Amino acid sequence: MGEKQKVNQTNIPKCPICGNPANKTNVHLIPWFIIKYYVTEAGGGARDKELSFSISSGHFTRMFAGRSVLPDKLEEFGDLHDLEKEQSNPYARDYLWCSKCEEKFSRLEAIFAVRFKEEKIRSMKNLPTHNNQDILIDTGFDNSIYQLFVQSIFWRCSVGKFDGFTLDPPIESKITENLREAFKQPDFLQLKAGDQVSLVHSFPLLTSFMYAKPDDDPTINYIMINKANSPYFIMAEKWLFQLFVKDVHTRSSQEWLYGLRTTIDASALYPKVHNTSHAILLTESVSNEFHKNRLDYIVVKKRQGILRDIRGAHKQVFGRKPSIHIEHYIYKQYLAHREAGNPEFQSFILAFLDLKKL
Ligand SMILES: [Zn+2]
Repeated sequence: MGEKQKVNQTNIPKCPICGNPANKTNVHLIPWFIIKYYVTEAGGGARDKELSFSISSGHFTRMFAGRSVLPDKLEEFGDLHDLEKEQSNPYARDYLWCSKCEEKFSRLEAIFAVRFKEEKIRSMKNLPTHNNQDILIDTGFDNSIYQLFVQSIFWRCSVGKFDGFTLDPPIESKITENLREAFKQPDFLQLKAGDQVSLVHSFPLLTSFMYAKPDDDPTINYIMINKANSPYFIMAEKWLFQLFVKDVHTRSSQEWLYGLRTTIDASALYPKVHNTSHAILLTESVSNEFHKNRLDYIVVKKRQGILRDIRGAHKQVFGRKPSIHIEHYIYKQYLAHREAGNPEFQSFILAFLDLKKL
């Protein structure tokens, strides 16, 4: 019997928002409408077809990749499709909050999904720009709802520890308070985009949308979350959400964000979108560069992770670090065994056994 079946009424935790039993199962940490085409088989959007793959090295933040396209550059690491397929759905959890609160999250999602529908975004013309990126500001979408929606994504990922992500406890508490107060509102489930919800705490937000052609495969994007907090950053398919703790942090962002820091230039951009329900529409070249930087980074980190493991294992077996020549040889053999279809661990052992051939 799995852990999930063992949970019964008596040990269901309390919903951190309303205090009722957190009875909801299979809640999504990242809104389903954002990821559904990306995590499902052939991008069909069917809930029972969820698939996910992660790319990681031992010490590295994972990148959750869609099914149909894993980048060519990563092929040297072997058949990641089968080998690193996620065993369980990394985006969903049980018993984090209650079904009533889940319905309210869904209402927030539905409003955002309609206001920032992809076809609508693409058809926008003559928008103001910032560093060549169009700025879409939706004045019919009350900022309190937009704030609560974006905050709730970070909150859900934190409460659900998505890929080990957590918000700093005081920030998480503030968002919990926001959700608690807003969800008390009667008729929350009938909320409209132009309505206002009570919002105790606001945070500076920057939301961007990746460029994509209408017929692009939705699974080419991926999902990732940074462990850094200035800003907090989630990439969910084409949406990039940044949440800063304070206004002043928008002027001194520490994060490279795979090139986005320069393009977005938060210090100049933030005053233009402060307190608005907005989306920065990234150009094709900026989007491509972001993807490229991100992949390069993953490849470098993956390689570093393998080399570190080789050095560690060599030291254990032979009592000393390998020479550069030997390290390179083992790495090369490791890749060859991966290419031949061997799993990671076996390839590693075989690569060491190959030392006998030298
Ligand atoms: Zn609740």
